[in-house]
Amino acid sequence: MTSCPECGTEANAPYKTWSISRKSSKTAGITEITLGMYECSECGNKFRAGVRNKGEISIKGVAERIKDIEGEFLNTLKNLREKLKTLETERSNLLMEIDELKKMAEAKADALESEIGMLRDEVQSLKQLLGVGEMDP
Ligand SMILES: [Zn+2]
Repeated sequence: MTSCPECGTEANAPYKTWSISRKSSKTAGITEITLGMYECSECGNKFRAGVRNKGEISIKGVAERIKDIEGEFLNTLKNLREKLKTLETERSNLLMEIDELKKMAEAKADALESEIGMLRDEVQSLKQLLGVGEMDP
């Protein structure tokens, strides 16, 4: 933070700012520097100081934030993919289990059907033996 050169109090936002452009040999471009006029809230001292280029910082911050978000997003995607994979595996396992249970149930139903058929035959032959069927109205 910018502070008053007289008393060291942290300065509030500048009451006036302006930008100067400077050719920069390092970046082979133009560097913009923002200067500001500050008035100390403690001693009233007015002074000039460089203003941190908020735009630059926030762009950098935004870029970093985007990177973070991208990272989170990729992580989320990865997690989702893994979860989907797990769910798919679980699903196919359950389908296989259901298939097997169905087959077992069908086999059991078949067995019961043939048993019932045999019992019917038995009942029928017993009735014939006892003549019950003929006595029924
Ligand atoms: Zn001051």
